[in-house]
Amino acid sequence: MSTFCPELWPEEPTPDNLENCRECGLYQHGSRMVWGEGNPEAPIMVILDNPGAREDRQGDPVVCGTRQTLQQAASEAGLKKDDLYVTYILKRRPVRAYNKDEVRQTCMIHLEQQFVEKKPKLVLCLGNVAVQSFFRNPEADVKALRGTWHNVQGYQTTVAYHPLAVRRRPNLWSYFLHDLEFVAEGYHHLKD
Ligand code: SF4
Repeated sequence: MSTFCPELWPEEPTPDNLENCRECGLYQHGSRMVWGEGNPEAPIMVILDNPGAREDRQGDPVVCGTRQTLQQAASEAGLKKDDLYVTYILKRRPVRAYNKDEVRQTCMIHLEQQFVEKKPKLVLCLGNVAVQSFFRNPEADVKALRGTWHNVQGYQTTVAYHPLAVRRRPNLWSYFLHDLEFVAEGYHHLKD
């Protein structure tokens, strides 16, 4: 029987000078700013689209479905909590219609800064929104890109389905697990 138990990972605080970022106008949606979580110096950076709805309503992180599925697959693939840092294309959750292209492009400045500071060895993009933003290609698609490494902006990057999609469509679990195993393999290969 699996002993895996999902848990809250420590949230990395938003830098003081960016706590009240108003660059893209998303601050008007009133959602909480979330910079990232996990080990800020982790070798593997995981990129999601934006923070989740439930923690936004509660004002605090919760072990939501996205976290449960990601952590479970990472654990089964042999990755440790310390190996991962999770962040977002958008640091705030949009709650109504917005100019997607413009806002994503604006907020990517913060992600780029995180890359400069953290210098991850590997990148895992989850879901088409994160993939299209990070690959800077509106046609990019998880189905077509998963299972191999891509050089994106100088970083060794692979992709997988969004954990929420995996929860909604349980037949995607084996693909998701395979993709996390692929990341683990790549990471262990780097360490050899
Ligand atoms: S989503 Fe990004 S750019 Fe927009 S206000 Fe938040 S941190 Fe700033």
